[in-house]
Amino acid sequence: MNENARAAVDAQPCAHGTLRHERTCPACSREASVTLGYGDVYGALRSWESFDCRHCGMKWESDDSGFLQPEPRARMLAAYGTWTVRMGRAQSAFNAVKVLRNALGLELMEAYALLKHESGIVLTGTSQECAWLKGLLEKAGERPVMNLVTLA
Ligand SMILES: [Zn+2]
Repeated sequence: MNENARAAVDAQPCAHGTLRHERTCPACSREASVTLGYGDVYGALRSWESFDCRHCGMKWESDDSGFLQPEPRARMLAAYGTWTVRMGRAQSAFNAVKVLRNALGLELMEAYALLKHESGIVLTGTSQECAWLKGLLEKAGERPVMNLVTLA
């Protein structure tokens, strides 16, 4: 089993949208816990991590913006499933395309193609990513629907 697969198996979901896993403390070499949070913060997708060693008291926190890196993202998908955001007919294709472009970093034509795709699915990802994009689209007057596709 490689490290990523092991992390996915060991990760325990705790509060909604967060994950906790054990990691060796770099200071005392004993077992410490790392909690990873992810989600919408005032319209921006953000992640944050806090390290806490109950043995030596070492702590740190860090945060980042945008989509998670592949390894922690795989753990989120494993813990909370793969979700989709689906759009029906857009209330305003102009506004919806603007939201998709900004949120997903797409070119104009890519965003139009995504919106016009027959599946209606504009994002497949973690529950937090889908909730974030759904919120942005709702703010723009759209009525997207979020669905759980699969629990890994
Ligand atoms: Zn320690």
